[in-house]
Amino acid sequence: MYRNILLLWAVIFLTFSTYAQRVEPPFWWTGMQNKQLQLLVHSTNIAQYQLKLDYPGIKVIKIHPAESPNYLFIDLEIEPQAQAGSFYLDFYLGKKRKLHLFYQLKTRSENAAMVRGFDQSDLLYLLMPDRFANGNPQNDQLTAMPDTAQRSNPDGRHGGDIAGISAHLDYLKSLGITALWINPLLENNMPQYSYHGYAITDYYQIDARFGSNSDYLALVEKAKTYQIKIIMDMVFNHCGSEHWWMKDLPFNDWVHQYEHFTRSNYRAETLMDPHAASSDRQIMSNGWFDRSMPDLNQNNPFVANYLIQNSIWWIEYAGLSGIRMDTYPYSNQAFMKRWVDAVYAEYPQFNILGEAWLQGVSHTAYFQSGSFPKIKSPSKLRSVTDFPVYYAASNAFNQNDSWTDGVASLYMTLSQDFIYSNADSNVIFLENHDVNRFASSIQNDLAKWKMGMTFLMTTRGIPMLYHGGEFMMDGAKDQGDAMLRKDMPGGWLGDTSNVFSASNLSDLQIEALDFTRQLSQYRHQHPALQYGKLTHFVPKNGTYVYFRKADWETFMIIMNNNEEDIQIKTADYDEILQSFKSMQEFGSTQWISIPSILNLKPKTATIYELKP
Ligand code: CA
Repeated sequence: MYRNILLLWAVIFLTFSTYAQRVEPPFWWTGMQNKQLQLLVHSTNIAQYQLKLDYPGIKVIKIHPAESPNYLFIDLEIEPQAQAGSFYLDFYLGKKRKLHLFYQLKTRSENAAMVRGFDQSDLLYLLMPDRFANGNPQNDQLTAMPDTAQRSNPDGRHGGDIAGISAHLDYLKSLGITALWINPLLENNMPQYSYHGYAITDYYQIDARFGSNSDYLALVEKAKTYQIKIIMDMVFNHCGSEHWWMKDLPFNDWVHQYEHFTRSNYRAETLMDPHAASSDRQIMSNGWFDRSMPDLNQNNPFVANYLIQNSIWWIEYAGLSGIRMDTYPYSNQAFMKRWVDAVYAEYPQFNILGEAWLQGVSHTAYFQSGSFPKIKSPSKLRSVTDFPVYYAASNAFNQNDSWTDGVASLYMTLSQDFIYSNADSNVIFLENHDVNRFASSIQNDLAKWKMGMTFLMTTRGIPMLYHGGEFMMDGAKDQGDAMLRKDMPGGWLGDTSNVFSASNLSDLQIEALDFTRQLSQYRHQHPALQYGKLTHFVPKNGTYVYFRKADWETFMIIMNNNEEDIQIKTADYDEILQSFKSMQEFGSTQWISIPSILNLKPKTATIYELKP
């Protein structure tokens, strides 16, 4: 008897856990520009039921069955007169009501449509939440999630969370950060390697090991009080292989299916290469990113609607200021264009950063709106990741100067800006979570590091730091991704060194941190360094000179990439300098007359403010 009861409970548990009822998006709003809403409803054998929905201002336009009998897609129209409120989606089999699902229409906040995205006035900061700070050790081990925190494993979870970020907003503020890109926080209930967040298993839930949806909302609200915008990392190209729908796909083509595992060739150049074999282009877009990351098929219109609504739901729900879209080139490009249009239709001043990890300037510019008027389905992105600048900056300070190498590589890269519709919107960086740490690229050399940081904060574009980069955290890609994603010292109870309280840091770390703070403060105080016109001169003898000029202020930046002192004649820069009489060096309070000869110390980047 006891055994039978156990069995019965097991059956009930399995029934509910496997076929838990879902309605997604979980709620919606009145007053959106787009009046259409497509609900995904998942429940056992729902295809045989009839829907009854009675709510003033909501019309059921069409009900679509799926290939699985356990789904219905319901097209609703929310008329302008619809009021916020709640109602039920009732599903009947004959006269018998089988399902009674609660749904809510909320009032859209008045300011939602006017949310301003990030731009070159901002300083972005990327952080990996599992590796930033463990604010709540109680969520480190959760029984429902097999991948628990084990800090000794470099590829395991370390326990960082939303509480940890929230506790250190003052630190980010002290660095001059105004916008925070957090690697994905959505549920990744994967058996291993779940810490990085790019194998999403639920698009509507924050991973419980990071916190809850309300914790995320509270973080966004708290960050606003620090004038820090939150940029959400989204992944449309692939989901996690343990995503709940993988056990019961609505349609066979919900993800791209192959008889044998088929990996993307990661060659995004195939998208714009006029000589590309179409099979290469196909495998680039439709191959799986990894065995654990099935490739979502955005050509299926229900997948497309699902993803578009999901992103709008998060912007509206959480009050986001931006999205960083992962692996932008890997998704269907006509769909991505439609998606960006849909977001900007609801939030005209919003900003989306697309990850376009390509080597070439033209390849990168392909993904920026308006760069190539002639291409079919042109991208609508305003901001792209500027990998060409990253590659140039990683090498410039190590190389011997030549026609193309050393600081000339910075010059050469920026000289191709004509191809972008707006290079000022490019997000520039010296490192991110996928590439060599800048400190490792330049052999932990403080002088070279300062040159890189000065370049980052004074050239055109939207600068971005990556957690730890502010104090020269190192890590080499050839030693594995975990080395690029080391824990922030002090984020865990008992850490011997603590960057947040500045205790037990090395002299090098202290100097780097101070430099980052001074430089970011300087950039914030001087809009010419954010918006000013960039004019650069042809590099000579391993020196690179450029100006940022606005109507009210002008800056001159000089880099000496040589291992020895060098002298430059200021008359060589008279084209701009002739309007000015005095200069003040960054870090100094003294104005001096512009001399005819400037002596530059080895491996230095100097910023001068100019005065008539
Ligand atoms: Ca934790």
